Amino acid sequence: MLNKKSVDDLQAKGKKVLVRCDFNVPLKNGEITDETRIVAALPTIQKLIGDGAKVILCSHLGKVKNGPNEGESLAPVAKRLSEKLGREVVFVSDYNVTGEAATKAVEAMNEGDVVLLQNTRFRGKEETKNGEEFSRELAALADDYVCDAFGSSHRAHASVEGVTKFITEKGGTNAVGYLMQKEIDFLGNAVENPVRPFVAILGGAKVADKLNVISNLLEKCDTLIIGGGMAFTFLKAQGLSVGNSLVDDTKLDYCKEMMEKAEKLGKKLLLPVDTVIAAAFPNPIDGPVEVKVVASNEIPNDMEGLDIGPKTAELYAEAVKTAKTVVWNGPMGVFENPTLAAGTIAVAKALAETEATTIIGGGDSAAAVNQLGFGDKMSHISTGGGASLEFLEGKELPGVAAADNR
Ligand code: AMP
Repeated sequence: MLNKKSVDDLQAKGKKVLVRCDFNVPLKNGEITDETRIVAALPTIQKLIGDGAKVILCSHLGKVKNGPNEGESLAPVAKRLSEKLGREVVFVSDYNVTGEAATKAVEAMNEGDVVLLQNTRFRGKEETKNGEEFSRELAALADDYVCDAFGSSHRAHASVEGVTKFITEKGGTNAVGYLMQKEIDFLGNAVENPVRPFVAILGGAKVADKLNVISNLLEKCDTLIIGGGMAFTFLKAQGLSVGNSLVDDTKLDYCKEMMEKAEKLGKKLLLPVDTVIAAAFPNPIDGPVEVKVVASNEIPNDMEGLDIGPKTAELYAEAVKTAKTVVWNGPMGVFENPTLAAGTIAVAKALAETEATTIIGGGDSAAAVNQLGFGDKMSHISTGGGASLEFLEGKELPGVAAADNR
């Protein structure tokens, strides 16, 4: 269990509580196309409203590369949130985020009121020098602080970590929200205290992005399954010829090391036994592509592996069937293309059908599971791709570390 103060530990009545949420939702033409992150934030917000707090919400949205702009304003979030809560959410649209407009809005609050500040990234890079000043200004608005932005908790940003120092200085409490607790309970239990057999499935494009995850999970799991583009560096490290498949030649030694590590620890490491190949990567990514299935040791020099084959899908599904805990991060192939999505679909289906506790580590695998309609069949779908990966690496998340201990 997480030994950090939570919203349950706050004496929130009449207090101004700043809550860092993860409202980084996808937008198309100003419309929210997936409200998962808004829904996931509701329990903490509703708890604080019920306690009679003055609830001040903040979040980033998008990458904000070209400075503040209406396209990345949190206005659509305020509207949707207000519908979900069934009460007004006062939106402070000021691009400065903090300052006069925010202060005035907070001063006008009554118990149970909700204010949403503008996109925190509008203040520039939150981790830069400007971050300290921004942290102080955020803290000045509130008495206590709650971090419920799991998807941002791996970043030591002003609104995630910086603010906590100034809340402490003024005698306030820094706590974590219900979403943070839930994420950490699921991911933490799976990794540190799994009901065995524990199967971890990793896919996605590059080995280099998941080096520490592979190494850490090998130690914790019973079976590690590798699919997606990253499998080809492993296959090449085994001496196989992988044609034009995605390979990172600088990581061949690393993959060998991991295979030796698996053997030494008595862990199963499963790699694709067959592969869906094509002459080239589809362009556009979801455009037509002619494919063939070959054994993984028979990939021709001029072809590229773009999905796991049917035998591999069966092998992986079988491993999932007998598991008690499964963690999955990263697609098995170029799932954006319907012709190359079968491997990812097969794994998603296996997870949907197993009795095991199933945890989806955010990002593409979460999107795939939801698109396929398997979302409600999973025990837990993380709202944070990068954060869940760092957690699976065994790293401490700054957003968690900064909360007060119980
Ligand atoms: P990641 O962001 O590392 O989780 O990788 C996700 C991306 O990996 C998706 O956009 C997939 O299209 C891509 N991907 C999966 N399998 C392959 C493959 N065999 N070759 C190239 N890209 C792949």
